[in-house]
Amino acid sequence: MKLRPEQIELIVLCVLAALGTVLFVAIDAFELALEFIESHEDWELDEAILALTVFGLAGFIYGSRRLRQLSRALRDKEKAEREARWLADHDALTGLPNRRFLSGWFKQFTAGRRKLGASQPPDLAVLSIDLNGFKKINDLHGHLTGDQILKAIALRLRKIFPNDFVARMGGDEFLAVIEAPSVDDLPGVQMRVVEEISRPITLPQMNAQVGASVGCALFPKDGRNFRDVIKNADLAMYEAKRNPLENCFVPFHPNLRTEYEYKTTIERELRQAIEKRDIVPFYQPIVDLYSSALSGFELLSRWQRPQGNVPPNEFIPIAEEKRLIDDLTELVLDQALAWARVWPRDLTLSFNLSPSQLLSDMMLSRIMYILDKHDFPPERLIVEITESAFIRDLASAQKVVGQFHATGMKIALDDFGTGYSSLSMIHELPIDRLKIDQRFVRNLNSSKKQVPILKAIIEMANELGIEVTAEGIEDLAQMDKLRQFHCPLGQGMYFGMPVPANEADQFIHRRQAVSISR
Ligand code: C2E
Ligand code: MG
Ligand code: MG
Repeated sequence: MKLRPEQIELIVLCVLAALGTVLFVAIDAFELALEFIESHEDWELDEAILALTVFGLAGFIYGSRRLRQLSRALRDKEKAEREARWLADHDALTGLPNRRFLSGWFKQFTAGRRKLGASQPPDLAVLSIDLNGFKKINDLHGHLTGDQILKAIALRLRKIFPNDFVARMGGDEFLAVIEAPSVDDLPGVQMRVVEEISRPITLPQMNAQVGASVGCALFPKDGRNFRDVIKNADLAMYEAKRNPLENCFVPFHPNLRTEYEYKTTIERELRQAIEKRDIVPFYQPIVDLYSSALSGFELLSRWQRPQGNVPPNEFIPIAEEKRLIDDLTELVLDQALAWARVWPRDLTLSFNLSPSQLLSDMMLSRIMYILDKHDFPPERLIVEITESAFIRDLASAQKVVGQFHATGMKIALDDFGTGYSSLSMIHELPIDRLKIDQRFVRNLNSSKKQVPILKAIIEMANELGIEVTAEGIEDLAQMDKLRQFHCPLGQGMYFGMPVPANEADQFIHRRQAVSISR
């Protein structure tokens, strides 16, 4: 037991008092004092000694009270310091350790293992866990409900990992560190995390449900130090989040880091490119297959860099992930409409919207503003959407698509046939046009299976009064077949690949010349 300074002081005083008493007894001090007082009675020493004794007693009482006060203040100070330390290292809401605590924990953990004689660092699995759907509940039902959910999830995690380290990293992100799991066991563990978190949560005011995306990295296999392993577990978690089904886990793989570094560079350059208006619209013709007349163009973004172009399939997903897609769309649509305003009035302009842009009506107001600016009627604008938005949040996407449609814009379901639930989308949404994915057209000449599929899609759309565009028509044979199947519109290399604005103008003049000369 460690003694406090005031306790030591008290002990020293007691020892001195004891020694003094022994000394006084040894020299018979009391007798000597009595003799001295009697021999000097005129000095009135007895009254002086009495006064000294009374003052001494009062001083003693005062001193001991002060000592008690001081030690209480010291205890309070120590308690406050302990609480402040705890708060700095823990999340006040869930009581779980926080990010700050983590590195210290790892040092202590490995030191503890070394004391026990372990020569190797421990094998650990780091699970980075991010909740899905939490933000929506928090926004919709308020922070109190959000807090209750976070507490419930923290409890569940503690239950799943009673002997392991579980921390809240901030917001709706948690981290679990499991000791020495066999790599083969990991999917089982992660499945349990996903399943347990996805179970409905009963709150006094409502029942709520969230999901989880889990990324996993191993120590020491997946990183030079513990910090790197946590970063890699996060990268795996972000990858899990990108999966449209979301509630899944992804183990770390070195490709994820290479990809991350590449993406970070592209993101930086993309920001600059948007600022400098280096992303430009290209236009691909869409043709009426019966009359061969030009029906309109699809706007496709192009990023031309001196060191080499980046294809849209690379920069669009990064723009989506880094929330640059709205600015990018606005930039290219603004440029495109500045050209398209002088096109013949029967030509349409199709443009692509990303799934995230269908989850709020923000983009619609920005688009309406640009349309207004260029005096371009919404009826000539076709919005191409894919199914992914509806898989994530059907209700919100349905609402926003309805708002787009209500302005007079047409809605096209892009890349049809490649998604998850295309037929229900046709049923649930105001779809004006289906764009059959180029994969179905590409093998039309060689694969016998494609013919009945294509025929069925075209027939169904025609019956429903939905226009169909076949994408990726590359040769005459493919076009002839599609015509035979009564496909009204086509797009592809056979008619022309995406071109810059001035070449699109030439296309319009040429087509008009062809139409007139027919
Ligand atoms: P998408 O909307 O399905 O566009 C059709 C893609 O097929 C275009 O690729 C086009 O160049 C290509 N293509 C057209 N005809 C042929 C053909 O005959 N053969 C072959 N092999 N390919 C053909 P691109 O321009 O590389 O764009 C790829 C995807 O990137 C687009 O697919 C679209 O989903 C997306 N994208 C492009 N620009 C934008 C944009 O501004 N915003 C958003 N959200 N997405 C965009
Ligand atoms: Mg498209
Ligand atoms: Mg497409």
